[in-house]
Amino acid sequence: MVNQSTSEELVSINPATGQEVRRIATTSINELNDVVERATHAFRHSGWKDLLPHRRAAVLRAIATGLDAEKEHLATLQMCDNGKPLSECRGMVEYAVGAFNYYASVCETLQTDVTPPRGDYVSFTVLEPFGVVAAITPWNSPIMNDATKVAPALAAGNAVILKPSEDSPLLSPELARIARTAGLPENMLQVVQGRGAEIGSALVAHAGVDMISFTGGTDTGRAIARVAGDRLVPVALELGGKSPHIVFADADREHAVAAVAAGIFGSSGQSCVAGSRLFIEEHVYDVVLNQVVERAKRIVVAAPDEVGVEVGPLASFHHRDRVQAFVERARAEGGRILCGGHAPRGGPYDKGAYYMPTVVEGLHPESQTCQEEAFGPVLVAIPFRGEADLIAKANGTAFGLACGIWTESFKRAWRIGRALDAGSVWVNTYKQSVTTTPFGGFKNSGLGREKGIEGLRLYCQVKSMFFGLHDSPLPIAK
Ligand code: NDP
Repeated sequence: MVNQSTSEELVSINPATGQEVRRIATTSINELNDVVERATHAFRHSGWKDLLPHRRAAVLRAIATGLDAEKEHLATLQMCDNGKPLSECRGMVEYAVGAFNYYASVCETLQTDVTPPRGDYVSFTVLEPFGVVAAITPWNSPIMNDATKVAPALAAGNAVILKPSEDSPLLSPELARIARTAGLPENMLQVVQGRGAEIGSALVAHAGVDMISFTGGTDTGRAIARVAGDRLVPVALELGGKSPHIVFADADREHAVAAVAAGIFGSSGQSCVAGSRLFIEEHVYDVVLNQVVERAKRIVVAAPDEVGVEVGPLASFHHRDRVQAFVERARAEGGRILCGGHAPRGGPYDKGAYYMPTVVEGLHPESQTCQEEAFGPVLVAIPFRGEADLIAKANGTAFGLACGIWTESFKRAWRIGRALDAGSVWVNTYKQSVTTTPFGGFKNSGLGREKGIEGLRLYCQVKSMFFGLHDSPLPIAK
């Protein structure tokens, strides 16, 4: 299946069927200038940033209500756009509803500081928006990633220009439409469409953009950070991962095996926090790995709207080609494929971008397969002997997004959790990522934290204010 998109038009292809879903016009560079100008004007003159927080919160809640009212439509659209199971897409719309409601609450309750004075004045901080925020999102979870950026950026009073991936262009315009209907002033949320290398890079370089918030691959993030550095505008980066999922011998085996499978094969592995490196304590390595492989073989790979589906297709045909190439390289590096390692064949599989859950073993932890992100349903298994060996291997990548630890010893969980380079540590659970708790990466997995109260502060700049109480004129020198 060839991507039929041109520089004037994006074609959304349903990866479950290969059928065209919709065509979307791209934004030209001239149009981008108009979009930025309108956003700047709206930021300065629409009154949004000057609304009292509880008034902004009311609009955010109305957006949540609007999303909820269209849940089925939005979930179905995302399913067609990127192939995730319908139940998962519904969950992502619910997440987006929750994000707007949560940031409405944060918006109207966020407090700033009265700071200790060292003279005759009262000093305190206030939070100001940056102005125009460029929000750039990937294709794996469009409505969720969009809401994670747009809700707090608007709550802080910014205008937002949202640029979705060319591979999943359908949800962002729906969010902008719903926001406008809910009472968000015109042009406070606009969407630009097109290729990242063209319209995305023009957007981040645009002199009218005051802050950049990006989710995507590490190389793209690095390129964007360079531009932001030159322009001296703040940038938040949520990037990739190669997260370790660790099973100690004393773990609750049944729960651990289920979580390992869900942690990598859920969303067909197209999740930044996918637990893609499985570390098993040496003396239970064979038995645990065998259970994981048996679970992987039983996973129901099917059309995303089929009853009982656990894993749908990958988000696009060209992404499946990338995953296939990743597995070929694992083979070339000497990896043994214990299950999967190919696209399924026959019936509906022949029309879609499906790929079987794949488990590989026998690779050195420094092999490319163990170091690079597949962003697909590919798990590499690695044995470890003792905590020092585990920590050295688990921390031995450029990434630091998340990790999972399965053990009945809370003291060990604490030691390992503190020692690992990871923005999120899950002990006896996995892939819990909620609006209320900060999320982001160590090392090459990102800069800044989204979600939680910090997720709103990300889109604010601190202003310090001093109100003088002097009884006599200020001297030139003290
Ligand atoms: P990319 O980095 O290729 O793309 C992400 C977004 O950036 C897309 O909208 C893309 O547009 C755009 N883009 C691409 N090049 C540029 C550029 N030069 N300037 C500005 N924008 C650009 O990543 P993928 O789309 O392949 O997404 C997968 C990656 O995202 C994985 O590495 C994954 O780990 C990461 N990710 C991280 C998450 C996190 O929270 N940490 C969450 C989800 C994913 P276009 O697609 O049109 O090229």
